[in-house]
Amino acid sequence: MDWDPKRSSKKVRRPTPPRRRHWNGEDDARFERIRRPPAIHVAARTGDAREASVVGVVAGGCVVQLGSERIPAIGAVTDVVVGDVVRIVPGPTGKVVVRDRLPRRTVLSRPHPDNPRLEHAIAANVDRAVIVVSTRSPPLRTGLVDRFLVAIERGGVEPVLCVNKVDLVEASERVDVAARLSPYVALGMPVVSCSASTCEGLESLRREISGRTVVFVGHSGVGKSSLTNALAPDAHRDVGAVRAFDGKGRHTSTSSALVTLEDGTRLVDTPGIRSFGLWRIDRGILRSYFPEFASAPACRFRDCSHIAEPDCGVRRAVESGEISPPRYQAFLRLQSEE
Ligand code: GDP
Ligand code: ZN
Repeated sequence: MDWDPKRSSKKVRRPTPPRRRHWNGEDDARFERIRRPPAIHVAARTGDAREASVVGVVAGGCVVQLGSERIPAIGAVTDVVVGDVVRIVPGPTGKVVVRDRLPRRTVLSRPHPDNPRLEHAIAANVDRAVIVVSTRSPPLRTGLVDRFLVAIERGGVEPVLCVNKVDLVEASERVDVAARLSPYVALGMPVVSCSASTCEGLESLRREISGRTVVFVGHSGVGKSSLTNALAPDAHRDVGAVRAFDGKGRHTSTSSALVTLEDGTRLVDTPGIRSFGLWRIDRGILRSYFPEFASAPACRFRDCSHIAEPDCGVRRAVESGEISPPRYQAFLRLQSEE
């Protein structure tokens, strides 16, 4: 690595206390000092900005990946989430300072905890979101899949459907399960089945995510953590590596993390993901997230809501079986939410 924040910071002529490579509890006072804006201005003048991915978010800052190193960074950018690419500059005391955030390619969000009408980003620049379901314990709930699909597409992310715990599926149930999943196959999205316990099918899941930045979403208990561990046995160690210290010198674990697998796949693992998908979609645009509606026969009214209007092509397609009735029911359910 040719960029060393400690070395670069020597260019800045101002008294600095002894430098330490990482945050630690004794750093408390200096941490507070360098959060002041002048530090950022001095750093920005050096013109020594580098791009880095955010792999963790902590109180008062974030953890960035620079080459093979994970470095705590502080700065004025508050709306940074895991997966963001930020420009960092060396600060005056050897700290790394976030100067700004680059535009996001994709963003997954959820309603803000204090105000459900506000959007709250939880992960950025994710390529694929893997919706994990299980067919048993807990049972398959396709309604949740439909809800996730809308939220995923809204963020510009590609969906993958992963049916976990296939080791629990009896041979006699397989036809029924396949029938319930067929609408998603028809939508053209990758559908894989696997078992985190027996590792059956894990390779087909790996192929769908290889080299990409991905998140696992789904109901609690379907096996997201087990899949992450099966794909990356040392994942928990990685997550531990983004532990850092808050402004009061307390050891805090990050609220989110990004784990890199050997093949370059990056798994975003954030608690916020668990409530992802509860975002209320604007009714006017909901139908645009059901791509199968576009290939239905034309409706009499161009702005048909596909709910009660006469001569609706979508409802005719549902009746003829061209559009999956459970998918249409999911549309009606999401449409009636407020
Ligand atoms: P999460 O809440 O989605 O992260 O689910 P977990 O990974 O914690 O898994 C919930 C439970 O399901 C645990 O007891 C796992 O051991 C179990 N489990 C996960 N994957 C499989 C699987 O493929 N087969 C079976 N039989 N059990 C599994
Ligand atoms: Zn219609």
